[in-house]
Amino acid sequence: MTTIKASCPTCGEVELTPADVSLMVCSHAPMSYYAFQCGTCCEEVRKPADDHVVSLLVSGGVPAQVWELPAEVLEVKSGPVLTYDDLLDFGLALSRLDELASVAATPVRA
Ligand SMILES: [Zn+2]
Repeated sequence: MTTIKASCPTCGEVELTPADVSLMVCSHAPMSYYAFQCGTCCEEVRKPADDHVVSLLVSGGVPAQVWELPAEVLEVKSGPVLTYDDLLDFGLALSRLDELASVAATPVRA
């Protein structure tokens, strides 16, 4: 059986089997990663997987799961950065909508 050596940031070097590793290959290559649960500390370890790592893991028997990066992640953002004040104003605007909705939902008494 293939043994895969990886490292846990807490425990150091660990040995894994292909079944222990999840390989997530992204349509946007820099977002590809592999993950495993460390057998010592039980934390999930997630690390980037470049083309070389993807090839090594696939050749070691780890099935690649392909995932698509949502297109909006790569959109160029323009305009000013959203601030806490913007969020507070938005929250206040939403509460005003609630007040309007409650008034509209109140039955009219004749
Ligand atoms: Zn660990």
